[in-house]
Amino acid sequence: MKVITTVKELRSTIAALRSPGKSIGFVPTMGFLHEGHLSLIRQASSENSLVVVSIFVNPIQFGPQEDFASYPRNLEQDCRLAKAAGAQIIFAPAVEEMYPQPILTFVDVKNLGNPLCGQSRPGHFRGVCTVVNKLLNIVQPDKAYFGEKDAQQLAIIQQMVYDLNIPVEIIPVPIQREESGLAMSSRNTYLTPEERASAAVLYQSLQKAKELFESGERSSGIIKDTMTGIIRSVPHACIDYIEISDPYSLTPLAQIDRSALIALAVRFGKTRLIDNLTLAEEE
Ligand code: AMP
Repeated sequence: MKVITTVKELRSTIAALRSPGKSIGFVPTMGFLHEGHLSLIRQASSENSLVVVSIFVNPIQFGPQEDFASYPRNLEQDCRLAKAAGAQIIFAPAVEEMYPQPILTFVDVKNLGNPLCGQSRPGHFRGVCTVVNKLLNIVQPDKAYFGEKDAQQLAIIQQMVYDLNIPVEIIPVPIQREESGLAMSSRNTYLTPEERASAAVLYQSLQKAKELFESGERSSGIIKDTMTGIIRSVPHACIDYIEISDPYSLTPLAQIDRSALIALAVRFGKTRLIDNLTLAEEE
């Protein structure tokens, strides 16, 4: 496995390996890899001849008060894990390599970045779209893998790829969870043991929502109220949002009359966690 830090070397390495009939899978990450990331890499490895993983904590998607400086990093461990999961190339550029000059060009997907996480993280998705666009241009993969854990990000990236005719297939990968149901996240390392125990309530609330939906409930208000009650019953939980939306346009649904995304963000102490579940009518 090769660890590459410059755009120039990455381009020449991929160019030398690219050939007709050989597909390139790409997994963009911010590192501190866990089973969630590894499931993306394993799937990419099973579907492509070459797998490129990027590890880059992207400063322009963090707000001024957010955790860019303290975000967990461990490149050596990441390389070991990514290699074992099937990656051949790690691209780990420094910030100055990705942004050698103040950036003047941004990619912004209108509307979709405003609701849900966009409310408390203004500019976040603009930063995500800009870096993903740059990475897709640098790697030029056939397929790029994104976790359903970040459902809003996935919807926005799919819209960006469609709108800008980017020649890549976006592959969504299901959420990997700990035994407690807590969605795996690099930020889970911030949680105290008590907060981690409380955070299992997020998945429980989503499961309850699914149960209500399956027993015929279609009122978003009733489902959200029930989830709020469950989450508020544990210590340390402070709800940022719970929303039920159209999974593509991300507009809120008062009545669940089509497939729907239930998404939430909840703070436990200084850690903000997100999770989601998609509801779909049985065929
Ligand atoms: P991050 O390093 O947090 O930017 O995540 C990189 C990619 O891994 C994104 O596409 C995430 O959606 C995905 N990912 C993160 N956590 C999980 C998880 N628990 N299950 C599945 N995919 C995940």
